[in-house]
Amino acid sequence: MSNIQEQINILVEVQGVEVEILQAGRLIIAMSDEAVALEQEVAEREALVTAERETLDDLKKSYRELESESKINAEMIVKSNEKLRNVKTNKEYQSILKEIEDIRKKNSGIEDRMLDQLENIESSERTVKEKEAQLGGFFQSCREKKEMLAAKEQRERQAVDTLNEKKVQISAKADPTTITILDDVKKKVRGLAVVPVQQAICMGCHMNIPAQLFNELQRFDELRFCPHCHRIIYWKENDSE
Ligand SMILES: [Zn+2]
Repeated sequence: MSNIQEQINILVEVQGVEVEILQAGRLIIAMSDEAVALEQEVAEREALVTAERETLDDLKKSYRELESESKINAEMIVKSNEKLRNVKTNKEYQSILKEIEDIRKKNSGIEDRMLDQLENIESSERTVKEKEAQLGGFFQSCREKKEMLAAKEQRERQAVDTLNEKKVQISAKADPTTITILDDVKKKVRGLAVVPVQQAICMGCHMNIPAQLFNELQRFDELRFCPHCHRIIYWKENDSE
């Protein structure tokens, strides 16, 4: 094997490891995004439970207000009844009776509203309990998912460390000049920097390589570049041939 062919093999190997590092990096980002999304969902569900608890508190408060209003009215009725015993005129008597009747009517309205509020309170209490139970279940499944994600992320990070070591070891076998050239090309192109040429077509940009260059490639006597995309190219027989 010519030295250039050997160098290209090393570059392709380094590039393969770099692709694996990139993929592992994407996985790590995806896992951390997933963990953030889980946290957000927990926060959203907690907010829903809090909102329902606040609704319940408001209902109870409004019930207590109605209750004290009704108590005051009941006391007023008692007082008015006492006054009835001491009235002198019929007119006064009628007027107090009317007063009592008005307060009774008012209180009956308040009591209806209290009954409605009691129903609302019971229904809200059920909702709070349901939502709390759901949240508890969600917390549990979230914790399990997050533990799983953390374990997976840990494994990916270890894999990246191993791959980086591997890259250093493989790169060490290459000519330092070749590595410098590779780094230069990498800065200029997106994606792969070293690509094969199959049936005179650059696999980086899918353009045709001039016949002269295609023949020279097969000699493996120096590093050559695609005239279109400037990637490092090497000759590779078509697999199907
Ligand atoms: Zn090309």
